[in-house]
Amino acid sequence: MVIIQEKLDLVRFNVDKEPHIRVNREACKGCDVKPCVYICPAGLFTLSDGEMLFSYEGCFECGACCITCPRDAIEWNYPRGGYGVCFRAA
Ligand code: SF4
Ligand code: SF4
Repeated sequence: MVIIQEKLDLVRFNVDKEPHIRVNREACKGCDVKPCVYICPAGLFTLSDGEMLFSYEGCFECGACCITCPRDAIEWNYPRGGYGVCFRAA
């Protein structure tokens, strides 16, 4: 049986100091559903006292957060060349 978390733990990143995803947190304040919190496979969107927090490190570059955001609050780009997901062990 394939354990998804074991596979995810194999992904390696070269983290850029420049974020490739930016979130307009002002727009998030009026978002009731907050699908990003549930859809991100890396768990990079979290809630703290009702406020949405985001960190771009560890992003799998799947694009799901951007596609599902109902308020166009996410500015999404691939990481710059050489950064982001850089190694996946077998
Ligand atoms: S879905 Fe979009 S608007 Fe809603 S909390 Fe997430 S990033 Fe913000
Ligand atoms: S692109 Fe995918 S992994 Fe990266 S923050 Fe968005 S949902 Fe999470």
